[in-house]
Amino acid sequence: MVKLAEWRGKELFRKYGVAVPVGQLARSAAEAEAAVRSGAVPRPCVIKAQVLAGGRGKGGAVRFANTPEEAGAAARAILELSFRGEKVREVLLEEKLPIDRELYLSITLDRAARTPLIMASATGGVEIESAAESTILRVPVHPFAGLLPYERRRVAEGLGIPTPLAKAFDALLDRLWAIFVAEDAELVEVNPLALSGERIVALDAKVIIEDDALFRHPEYAEVPDELTPLEEIAREKGIAFVQLDGNIGVIANGAGLTMATLDVLAEVGGRPGIFLDLGGTDDPAKVTQAFLLMAQAKPRAVFLNIFGGVTRCDTVARGLIEAMKQVPPETRFPLVARIRGHNEAEGVALLREAGITSLSDLRESVRAVVDAAGNPPGGSA
Ligand code: GDP
Ligand code: MN
Repeated sequence: MVKLAEWRGKELFRKYGVAVPVGQLARSAAEAEAAVRSGAVPRPCVIKAQVLAGGRGKGGAVRFANTPEEAGAAARAILELSFRGEKVREVLLEEKLPIDRELYLSITLDRAARTPLIMASATGGVEIESAAESTILRVPVHPFAGLLPYERRRVAEGLGIPTPLAKAFDALLDRLWAIFVAEDAELVEVNPLALSGERIVALDAKVIIEDDALFRHPEYAEVPDELTPLEEIAREKGIAFVQLDGNIGVIANGAGLTMATLDVLAEVGGRPGIFLDLGGTDDPAKVTQAFLLMAQAKPRAVFLNIFGGVTRCDTVARGLIEAMKQVPPETRFPLVARIRGHNEAEGVALLREAGITSLSDLRESVRAVVDAAGNPPGGSA
């Protein structure tokens, strides 16, 4: 999966004629300040962390400035951030446009219905997560017929696009569709899409390119693998580690058990934030390493779910206990362990001795970890 950073997504938008704010990338506070001082970025401006995680607006990774000095200071502050475990290496500076309305618009694949799907909401912006499902308009698009005029009108009406902007909106939706098709995207998302006076402008861009189509897009091979820094370290160490948006860390072994664990977690109302597949190992040091990596992602709570086969339960327990000694006190988190299988009794005894909560029932342990993370029970996020 190639996820494009916002600035790359906007480059793509520009190429296809989708309006985006005037902007420039900077790698230091000095560069940021100079970009505004030279007028390359008009004032007032927005300074945005170029990380792959969402929720930057709410997380202090999008700031505003009126002067070159303020822009420099904002860039410095953002470049010092580690946003959801992802080190910020670049900021995007852009003109700050006045916003009349913030809309949500995306094109994705509805895999169950086997069709591309447009999703649109008149309440876009940072509150989209809390928008009621019923306020989101869904328009499936036939993959062979392509986007038809009446479908565009349905979306425009659903969003309440004012008549003078109707033509511009039509063109915009067509161009986003063109990106979705020609670039083999699995997601093209604009949130917010801003109505700004006479213009419709994409203030954010999230584009994900489908893995299976990469063979016909050699240009994306150039995109540095935009793994989060922790994901990069994990890859070097041969640990499958993926960062998501939630706050609970899951360590399991084998893809099947890992996925099943995530499913049960979601069912009980937990939000997985990181999952780590230990794979098969009989080396406690590898377990320790994996665990320390997890700690760096700062989860609210961690669930360790291991089925002992090649990976013996006592190996896992030893690695875990060693890791707990090394995790600095200020980054400790509640831990629930469930280890079953080969050498289970020995592993469980070691954990209990070390004061680590060890349960054997899957649902019970998942509930315990969701409670520990402070998530409200029931309902999925
Ligand atoms: P995200 O939170 O990571 O999705 O980051 P966004 O790029 O969506 O920015 C978050 C919020 O910052 C947006 O919803 C806007 O409210 C605000 N914002 C971003 N760019 C501009 C801009 O050019 N003008 C104004 N007024 N607000 C902006
Ligand atoms: Mn956004």
